[in-house]
Amino acid sequence: MTGHYNCGGIRAALGDTDHGQIDNWLAYIKDVLKDNHAEISALPTEQEQVDRLCELNVICQVSNVAKTSIIQNAWRKGREVTVHGWVYDLKDGLLRDLKVDISGPDQIHEAFRIK
Ligand SMILES: [Zn+2]
Repeated sequence: MTGHYNCGGIRAALGDTDHGQIDNWLAYIKDVLKDNHAEISALPTEQEQVDRLCELNVICQVSNVAKTSIIQNAWRKGREVTVHGWVYDLKDGLLRDLKVDISGPDQIHEAFRIK
């Protein structure tokens, strides 16, 4: 999974403006915001809040992908699959590894494991 800092979608999710159809997609990011509200709201600037929510959204999506039957079936068949979480920074062109790799079922909560 790759996100990018200063993302307009993430910025929109932090606000309360009506964006029409896009709001249905923003709801997933708002869930990440809700789950991390204390951490995000403690950051002093909107830019820092946007960039941290960019990271937290990637971390959440890494977890979501790892929970899918597609990934879990691959592991069960003995395939080596790792889900990575990266954020791209347009300012310096660097791709940052958030170091949240998930490479096996032992790294997801047992409630989501498929036997
Ligand atoms: Zn974006």
